[in-house]
Amino acid sequence: MKAVVCNQAQLAVTDVAAPTAGTGQLVLDVVRCGICGSDLHSRHHADAIADVADEVGYDGLMRSDQQIVLGHEFSGVVVARGKGSRIAEGTPVVSFPLLRSAGGVHPTGLSAHAPGAYAEQVLVEDALSLPVPNGLAAEVAALTEPLAVGLHAVRRGDVGKRQVAIVIGCGPVGLAVIAMLKANGVRTVIASDFSPGRRALATTMGADAVVDPAAESPYSAAVGHGHLTTGPEVFELGVSTVEKLRRLPVVPWHQVWRVADKVGAATPKHPVVFECVGVPGVLDEIISSAPIYSRVVVVGVCMEPDRIRPAMAINKEVELRFVLGYTPLEFRDALHLLADGKVDAAPMITGVVGLDGVEGAFEALADPETHAKILIDPRSTATAPTAP
Ligand SMILES: [Zn+2]
Repeated sequence: MKAVVCNQAQLAVTDVAAPTAGTGQLVLDVVRCGICGSDLHSRHHADAIADVADEVGYDGLMRSDQQIVLGHEFSGVVVARGKGSRIAEGTPVVSFPLLRSAGGVHPTGLSAHAPGAYAEQVLVEDALSLPVPNGLAAEVAALTEPLAVGLHAVRRGDVGKRQVAIVIGCGPVGLAVIAMLKANGVRTVIASDFSPGRRALATTMGADAVVDPAAESPYSAAVGHGHLTTGPEVFELGVSTVEKLRRLPVVPWHQVWRVADKVGAATPKHPVVFECVGVPGVLDEIISSAPIYSRVVVVGVCMEPDRIRPAMAINKEVELRFVLGYTPLEFRDALHLLADGKVDAAPMITGVVGLDGVEGAFEALADPETHAKILIDPRSTATAPTAP
């Protein structure tokens, strides 16, 4: 079969052996596969990324000198089944991109042990595969994976419906976060991106306000929601709260405070900020500019060493949470949110290419004005991204 093979940062359409299904595995004909920002990054920085994974005890992540088939955001149709698999041939499915092979579990499309879906066929686990419900289109089903990334970030961000969410960066990750915030009923979502094209997409995906950070701070767009922005406001709040509570008859102030604390009412209002850029300096910029007590969810993958000023984060009691991937449950829920029409992710798709067009698509994705998510259709002959 044909596949796009990445070796020494070069992409080439190559004939490779078609996969065969082991016990509990399925072979899919790939229908669509999304090109992910992490694919763009892995092409050039595979070894640095693999070194970090190695430190965490996993030595199977792709290396620049290996023959790697990328692609972890795919939908397909079952064409062959291993022993003990449940899903019938001909069923359209999406699959959580982890594969049992070579004596371990490996991330599909990011390891030499689990070739990805920049190919005519891909090998998946039956247990991790989900039939596509409600006749959901294959191109939208292929967005299950990036949407699951957004869902995981939102769940880990623990955003209340009345809390303000601020999304910094409106690439595919930021757009998925926006969609999932709205699907979770968060009323006020402010999105920030330098690109007018990306801001327009953010609005389409449900952002309530969009901000050009070159002209306006996303945090000043959140004014009026009761966030604290200066040290003196925190001092004043502490003193005036005790003063007020002491005026209450009968019940001592500390008992009232303790009850308020228990139900979460003693915590000053604060936004949840989603960092969806992943380049050095962004995290420190957020810590410096966000309101006091902000929770910051780091979704963007900054692969280089970065500097933050802990003293600034301490002064503002900023909470940092780092997130990675999603759980199998979140992956399943993302598929159903799409299939039930609760999330409309189709506007994220800005182009489709064939295998011969992958190289050009990687270049096209460098321009945020034109593209967000480009899908590969292995049966297409398009060498440049065409309208979906
Ligand atoms: Zn991805």
